[in-house]
Amino acid sequence: MTTFSNEVESLNPFEIVQKQIDVAAAYLKLPAYVTDILKKPKRVLTVSIPVKMDDGTTRVFEGYRSQHNDAIGPGKGGIRFHPDVTIDEVKALSMWMSFKCGVVGLPYSGGKGGVIVDPRTLSKGELERLSRGYMEAIADFIGPDKDIPAPDVYTTAQIMGWMMDTYSRLKGVNTPGVITGKPLILGGSLGRNEATAQGCVYTILAALKELGRSPSGATVAVQGFGNAGRIAARLLTEQGCKVVAVSDSSGGIYDTNGLDMNKVYDLKDNGKLAQYGAQYVISNGDLLELDVDILVPAALENVITRHNAANVKAKIIAEAANGPTTPDADIILKEKGILVIPDILANAGGVTVSYFEWVQNLANFYWSEEEVLEKLEKRMHSSYDAVRALASEHDTDLRTAAFMISIKRINEAMVARGWV
Ligand code: GLU
Repeated sequence: MTTFSNEVESLNPFEIVQKQIDVAAAYLKLPAYVTDILKKPKRVLTVSIPVKMDDGTTRVFEGYRSQHNDAIGPGKGGIRFHPDVTIDEVKALSMWMSFKCGVVGLPYSGGKGGVIVDPRTLSKGELERLSRGYMEAIADFIGPDKDIPAPDVYTTAQIMGWMMDTYSRLKGVNTPGVITGKPLILGGSLGRNEATAQGCVYTILAALKELGRSPSGATVAVQGFGNAGRIAARLLTEQGCKVVAVSDSSGGIYDTNGLDMNKVYDLKDNGKLAQYGAQYVISNGDLLELDVDILVPAALENVITRHNAANVKAKIIAEAANGPTTPDADIILKEKGILVIPDILANAGGVTVSYFEWVQNLANFYWSEEEVLEKLEKRMHSSYDAVRALASEHDTDLRTAAFMISIKRINEAMVARGWV
């Protein structure tokens, strides 16, 4: 089997994104110093956040905010609350944000934040104090013209609301544009909650069209049942697709005849997916290898690796998660003729509507949901077409083409600013 090297495949997202940059930059024939700049974030902040717990003790959490490259505009990207957060992961995620914003043509560079915590173990009060504490720690580092956070894994509109409030109080000025993904009443945008999944579905429809397939009856497996996975499953069902498998961090369920999605949503809200029925239970690993038309990894990084890529049978992989596929796996999937819609395109709908939210905040003028969706659809389709065309021109995969578009753009901005 072909791999990049005989070395053990790296699962460090920071090394992975560096490899992806190298692969794309080779096509662009840019001077090495350009890739040297792009292969590291410009700034990374580490913070320590003491939080008073409900039992009277104080726990200290560690968090990060990484800003990749500010040639194009302010940083943009979510904040992740997860026990497995590492500084390298946050750095990589901030770099993917730069390339994501580039693919869909947003006037942003990449940013990302993370806190090492399992928020499911915190009370609401503890979560609020942690969210406010993290914002207080990064407040001088970010701002509506500097770096604009948003939700990511295990962070919600409510958390964005608390953070916006803390920032505004610290600065003494109501500042909705400092963060996106807020509750509507605080300047959130209609359509933002569904945007990541909605954007992903637009790219899936474009990919199906490319393969001459109709969404009607297309079988789907979704790994991860957070904001992106859950809503993608619903929207794909509305398009006529048949969702046969879903999973969350505790495992998955599979029915070749199609899952009863109402039952799945009820179980997810009130119980465990596994209660769907013992005969339907599968593992997260098995889900990735199902014989389906569309596989949507919508959880975390590094789930499709050199170890399981050869067993993937889907025709289309739409990466709703960030970084689900390693570079070694990419090569195997390409050899198998699987169409991979890369994360920086497939999940760019979230940050695109975050951009719309920020524009609305700065203008203090709010749009209808139809307006938001129409603009999102247009941007996702034109971005897909541009990536597809470049990939065909260079006989490469969509990920490499997507990186090429962004790297070219950032390079142009760095040249125009006189940095290189
Ligand atoms: N966390 C999301 C992502 O990875 C959204 C970022 C944003 O809206 O700024 O794309």
